[in-house]
Amino acid sequence: MNEIKIKETIKFIRHIYSSGNNEFIPLHSPKFFGNEKKYLNDCIDSTYVSSVGKYVDLFEEKISSKINSKKSVAVVNGTAALQVALRLAGVKKGDEVITQALTFVATTNSIIYNDAEPIFLDVDLDTMGLSPKSVSNFLEEYAEIRDDGCYNKISGKKISACLPMHTFGFPVHIDKLISVCNKWKIPVVEDAAESLGSYHKDKHVGTLGKLGVFSFNGNKILTSGGGGVIVSNDSDLANEGKFLTTTAKDPHSYEYYHSKVGYNYRMPNINAALACAQLENLDLFLKSKRKIAKLYIDFFDSLNINFRKEVHNTKSNYWLMALELEDLKARDYFLKKTNENKIMTRPVWQLMFNLPMFKTYFKDSQKNAIYLSERIVNIPSSSILI
Ligand SMILES: *Cc1c(COP(=O)(O)O)cnc(C)c1O
Repeated sequence: MNEIKIKETIKFIRHIYSSGNNEFIPLHSPKFFGNEKKYLNDCIDSTYVSSVGKYVDLFEEKISSKINSKKSVAVVNGTAALQVALRLAGVKKGDEVITQALTFVATTNSIIYNDAEPIFLDVDLDTMGLSPKSVSNFLEEYAEIRDDGCYNKISGKKISACLPMHTFGFPVHIDKLISVCNKWKIPVVEDAAESLGSYHKDKHVGTLGKLGVFSFNGNKILTSGGGGVIVSNDSDLANEGKFLTTTAKDPHSYEYYHSKVGYNYRMPNINAALACAQLENLDLFLKSKRKIAKLYIDFFDSLNINFRKEVHNTKSNYWLMALELEDLKARDYFLKKTNENKIMTRPVWQLMFNLPMFKTYFKDSQKNAIYLSERIVNIPSSSILI
């Protein structure tokens, strides 16, 4: 991108966000214009700010009906949700989990927390998410099915889950991915942390695999301060998720008896109250995002700059808007110039196998992941009131 186009871009972003020349424009900031204060005050007035209170159940019901999933379990953050979802899917110590290297570190960390190992397979160029083709190629070459599931013939380890991530809200080719994984008897856990409001055909992402996970961190499309949710259409799995995330305490009116090593991962009532208020405005947030995306599309198309758009048969929530620049040099220059001008932009994450703790794990060619990592940047994407 040349100097003139960068200047035009900065001007346009300031125009979208109606901001003065010296104001900092963040990548993504939360918006509170609904019942947030009312519900938070209700928590304080009632003294139920912590592990007891009505908002957790209410939020779980609301999110289930919003995305059309049978059950939801609200937890402290998206990372914890991923960790427990993998355990629920059957991931055990020494297993392998197929995932993508182009992701936020929490995806990979959640595998390690289960004492399992990531297998990094390449993404598709169009979705920026795990490629069904690379998964299929890997399994054809390395995998065999035994009585109790799929095994890696070379390492001898069980491949007990596949963990794709819907990058920036753009759905992966989830139907193809699930059909590959079904063939190999591998359960799919969707990292939909960034993708509340994104659809594959008429189904909400996160509800197509065995389990799905969303995050409500401060930078996501909705926030509960901190929070996450595990969703599933399998009630037994979700109930086990509730049990494990609430210290695995057997139900009893006063006795403390725990039959497993559980976690204290329950979402506090005060966070759930915030989440309930935010969820009421999800449709407005989505509308606003779509409007901004449309403005960006028209602008960047006119400059002949590649603004990343949703792919056929999918609907993106446009959580983080992204540009694909010509090459690494163009990317770095764009990042430098925009940040110098107080417009927050950033490159896509470092590929996981380049981080010191994940260097030794298996990876395939990573051709597309490397290509994208040298070109993709995020630009300001906060909702505006419309
Ligand atoms: C935000 C995010 C998470 C983790 O969510 P937290 O609530 O921040 O723990 C996991 N995976 C991806 C892809 C994310 O973007």
